[in-house]
Amino acid sequence: MEMFRPEALKLMKAKRGAEFARIEEFCRSPKAFLKHMDEVGIDRAVLINYVAPEVIGFTAGVNQFIADYVKADPKRLIPCGSLHPRHTDNVLADVENIIRLGIRLIKIHPPHQLLYPNDYVHGVKELEIIYRAAEANDIPVMFHTGTSIFPGARNKYGDPMYVDDVAVDFPRLKILLAHGGRPLWMDTAFFLIRRHPNVYLDISGIPPKTLLKYFPRLEEIASKTLFGTDWPGPGVPDMKKNLDDFRALPLSPATQEQILSKTALTIWPE
Ligand SMILES: [Zn+2]
Repeated sequence: MEMFRPEALKLMKAKRGAEFARIEEFCRSPKAFLKHMDEVGIDRAVLINYVAPEVIGFTAGVNQFIADYVKADPKRLIPCGSLHPRHTDNVLADVENIIRLGIRLIKIHPPHQLLYPNDYVHGVKELEIIYRAAEANDIPVMFHTGTSIFPGARNKYGDPMYVDDVAVDFPRLKILLAHGGRPLWMDTAFFLIRRHPNVYLDISGIPPKTLLKYFPRLEEIASKTLFGTDWPGPGVPDMKKNLDDFRALPLSPATQEQILSKTALTIWPE
């Protein structure tokens, strides 16, 4: 919370309203958050963090923060960290630090980090080193795909097609397309998920009521689709409501179970 740039914090406070104090409490207290997970019926949560000093204010300090936070219950709380190719003096040392901290997912946020996922083909060697290390250590990489409304976000970077190179060049790297390109690039996301064995769909940030409109052939990619909420992101009202709305969709019980649990369990079995 202390890292937020003023404009980004203002947006969060405006969108979260009265609930903001509770979110602050959850940031301080993993115990309080675990209790909340119990109340809404969530077994395990992946806690998304990334390094985006220019747009949001987050520094590499998020990695130590989340590594400490999940100590309250390492089975139920899965730490996601990040690196930024332009904000590192020694990318190899930073990658090693992430591995040492036990980070279990790396998030790359192109519209907030102001980069293309495939910038390594244009000389940004740091990105290649990050992907190579993630692939070698079996740490999946999640890309934010789709738009962002945070002040200063640049949405050209949100097109999932730039992940195509990464999927080709790092065939053993597990790649998660966060938000499935919402709301502009769902077709591109669907194509990449079907095209590449190593690309998965994360449905967080997509209102469940619109999910089948955006992905009418969801059942075909269910084995590579995983549930998430993106809460407390600005557009997501409530985790319980997301879960209830998802369960109300006309999907077979097997597909529901696959997306709610099984796919994630193939990625983080324990
Ligand atoms: Zn995102």
